[in-house]
Formats: sequence, structure tokens, C-alpha cells
Amino acid sequence: MSDFSILEVGIDQSQRMIELRREIFSSLLRGEAVAIEDLLASFGEVVIPMVEELVDGGVALLDEDRSYIVGAEGVSLQPTSHQLKIGGTDFYTWCAFDIIGIPAALKVDSIGVTHCPGCGKELIFDAKKGDFSGVSLQESIVGFWPNASGPVVENFCPSALIYCSIDHLKDHKGSKFDGQALPIKDLAERGEITWRIFAP
Ligand SMILES: [Zn+2]
Repeated sequence: MSDFSILEVGIDQSQRMIELRREIFSSLLRGEAVAIEDLLASFGEVVIPMVEELVDGGVALLDEDRSYIVGAEGVSLQPTSHQLKIGGTDFYTWCAFDIIGIPAALKVDSIGVTHCPGCGKELIFDAKKGDFSGVSLQESIVGFWPNASGPVVENFCPSALIYCSIDHLKDHKGSKFDGQALPIKDLAERGEITWRIFAP
């Protein structure tokens, strides 16, 4: 697990692909959807199969007309149950792991909000420069890391939630849950690996 990023499974690791992903990601972080037309202008026709690869891998989402990328790498411009604010921009994320992992990797100030699926309690995570060590003082809070493979947005994200305690995780998923319960500190560390291609 130490050197494994769920965002890189089955995706071409070429420099051009990384460049494309960084461009899409930074646009979404500014709260702006990415027009396929604009990508064609800067990358050429080759960008079409590249975007398809990202969509098939579950790391990019298109709008209904397939003209804009409206979510990628965990960042979503379409409403979800998880909110994240970075650099004055509010957006949504695909899962609760994102509200910890993305700021941890980017080393930015952030405010993330999600709700415990067990009891509905609002959970707020503030970090300065991606440092979540203050949050980890609330030791009962756990993130659920599902055992999942295949397209990330479909198979991993729906279960990658944060609970106020292991008891609430068990209440919600049963005691034989298929995955790991991790403290916030560990989610932050995994975030640094997961979003490493976007790190400054
Ligand atoms: Zn709870």
C-alpha cells in the first residue's frame, strides 16, 4: 500500500497524460468546468482518447452532452454529500477521503465538510497547509477505506466515507466490513500518495 495510488491504476503514466490531468484538476480547483473544445485546442485530437481513458478509469466525469469535464480526481462541480473549500473556492468531492487527501497532497489551507453515515453528525475538517495533525487528536474519528477495484468514482468513492467512531462504522456497515478503518492521519498520508502527481 505504501506506494500505491488508486488514481493511477490502469491509466497511462506518460508525461503528456500527467500534463492533461494537472490542467483538468487545476481548472476544477478554480471552480471551472473544462471544455473539451479547449482541450482540443491545446492538446490536439489526441486528447479525445486520453479523456476517454480517464472517464473509463473512473477518474473523470463528463456532463450529459459530453462537452465539459465536470469532475475529476475526486473534485466535483456537481453537488455531492462532501464539500471542500480551497483558496476561496467552494466545490464538492466524490468521497469523504478527498476532503482530507487532496489538501494533504497539495499542502494547502482547507475546510472540508461531510457527515457521518452512521449518525448523520456533521464532521468538519480544517487544515493549514495540508496538516491534519490537529484533527487527529479526535482519535475516535475513522475513515473507511473500502476494498475496491475498477473505476474509482463508481467502485471506491461511494464507500470511502468518514465516521465519528468505529462503532458508527460498524452500525452502518456491519461488523465484518470489507475494508480498513483508518485514522485521519493515515488518510492524510494516503492522500499524499494518491494525489502525488498534482503535488506542488
Ligand atoms: Zn456518527
